[in-house]
Amino acid sequence: MRFEDLGPGVLMFVGDEYESVATAFLDGNDVLLVDSLGSAEDARWLHRVLCADMGKTVRAVAATHFMSDHIAGMPLFPDALIIAHRHHRHTFLSQNRRVDEFYREPQVVFDSAMTIRWGQHELRFWHNPGKTMDHVSVDVPTADLVCAGDNIVGNIVYLSGGPRADSHGDRPDAAIRQERGHWRAHGQVFRCHARQRDPLPGPATGCRYPNPHP
Ligand SMILES: [Zn+2]
Repeated sequence: MRFEDLGPGVLMFVGDEYESVATAFLDGNDVLLVDSLGSAEDARWLHRVLCADMGKTVRAVAATHFMSDHIAGMPLFPDALIIAHRHHRHTFLSQNRRVDEFYREPQVVFDSAMTIRWGQHELRFWHNPGKTMDHVSVDVPTADLVCAGDNIVGNIVYLSGGPRADSHGDRPDAAIRQERGHWRAHGQVFRCHARQRDPLPGPATGCRYPNPHP
């Protein structure tokens, strides 16, 4: 388990289980989490470091997708608002390694897009189905960061390089971010050297990849 500073107001926590990542956006002592690690033990560590050691309060927990290896921390922050895509239940019920104890009913659900201003950052959630029906990416231009969840992980093969003609076509800033920003997946943040012909991940662009989880 480890955490690192990704820049002003952003911390990344990496758990042991699948090296699942939780990204914390800070507004003073208030925290919005994007994902919350993959095991109860990792989640307890996250809670201890954020709350006990750093004195923060987690006010909201969002999920890039509602699989158990990304939502383990939700029960540990019972007062936090849970944010998810409206298809979250489909993903939760269809996974192979479901952990019912991690499930919390979201108070906020959205469909195609949603923007939250949190501290100095603007988090732009947009539905980006790929690995799962409910998958969202979180574009944070103020941090030069995209939380891509499991849509960028493992060995990825792009089957189509044509122009995007999907529902994200009105989001050129996200495409630009792919060229200069960070992508966050399991266990790593890496510079993406995307070229013009590389599309954003998602079913409309023909992105396919193997399941990174055993
Ligand atoms: Zn995952």
